[in-house]
Amino acid sequence: MITSQISTIQNFQSQEEILDVSIVVPIYNEVESLPHLLEYLAQILHENQLSYEIICVDDGSSDGSTELLKHLAQTQENVKAVILRRNYGQTPAMAAGFKCARGRAIVTLDADLQNDPADIPMLLSKLAEGYDLVSGWRQNRQDAALTRLLPSKIANWLIGRVTEVRIHDYGCSLKAYRRELVADLNLYGELHRFLPALAFIEGARIAELPVRHHARRFGKSKYGLGRTFRVLMDLLTIWFMKKFLTRPMHVFGSLGLLLMFVGTVLGGYLTFLKLGLQENIGDRPLLILAVVLLLAGVQFFCFGLLGELLMRTYHESQDRPIYRVREIVENNVKNGK
Ligand code: UDP
Ligand code: MG
Repeated sequence: MITSQISTIQNFQSQEEILDVSIVVPIYNEVESLPHLLEYLAQILHENQLSYEIICVDDGSSDGSTELLKHLAQTQENVKAVILRRNYGQTPAMAAGFKCARGRAIVTLDADLQNDPADIPMLLSKLAEGYDLVSGWRQNRQDAALTRLLPSKIANWLIGRVTEVRIHDYGCSLKAYRRELVADLNLYGELHRFLPALAFIEGARIAELPVRHHARRFGKSKYGLGRTFRVLMDLLTIWFMKKFLTRPMHVFGSLGLLLMFVGTVLGGYLTFLKLGLQENIGDRPLLILAVVLLLAGVQFFCFGLLGELLMRTYHESQDRPIYRVREIVENNVKNGK
């Protein structure tokens, strides 16, 4: 009974997974580059005899991209337009694309032609070597030095240190994923920059390949310096998830106990002064410190308990295992199959 259920699911999946690759492109006001991009993509994918679909996610554009995209999706083969209701940002746009991707591999790239579609076959063959994620590395990045390259250098170094995923270029949108991996990733906020780190948390094998990068030919970048701070905040989230997602009590609980311990020792000392030596302790800053430490300690401890509850809800409500299986190997003959 269970076996037949599993095989039905597998059949369902194999019927769905008929394509070699799904290309996911988030689009926000890129009307000029769109036709060039689609033409170039189709040419490269045809040349390499890949079965494909191009999923263009329109992220609330207001420059006519939406209308053009609708037209292109109706007239061109293998192009699908997903039109979002408003501008949500690059991460939700990519998540919307992932959701309807049917390819065995999923490739993401920018709509502005800064990434070169000619690099896609190379990424796919690396993926076929057994990696779950292959990330592009813009060795010759064509962006402004001070506002883009410098913050990005610092961010890459920081992210590398915090996440322990040793790749050079997190910001490159050109990446190839195995479909199973994408299905396991939950994207929020602006976490698309941290996809390799999220993938690493899920146990993915990650590779990096140098790719071409061009200056923007049309339109202008949607980001400025302001994103640096948002990246820092996201980095904190990732760090926490990587370290403590399944054991929040370890961080909050131990910190709480430590603070409570110090608070209690100080309180004990003050009690001794008051009761043993009859000293006046009412005006001592140490008293305030002891009280604050005790209260903070209790709060941290309760945070830890709440975190444990939330973590269980997070995993159990989605049937989300706390581990990922790469493959299961068994002797089929012995099991009579
Ligand atoms: N993008 C999007 N929604 C947004 C901002 C950007 O879908 O709110 C898309 C944009 O159209 C482009 C990609 O995300 O295809 C990357 O944006 P951009 O090229 O401006 O970033 P940069 O390459 O300068 O880092
Ligand atoms: Mg760009």
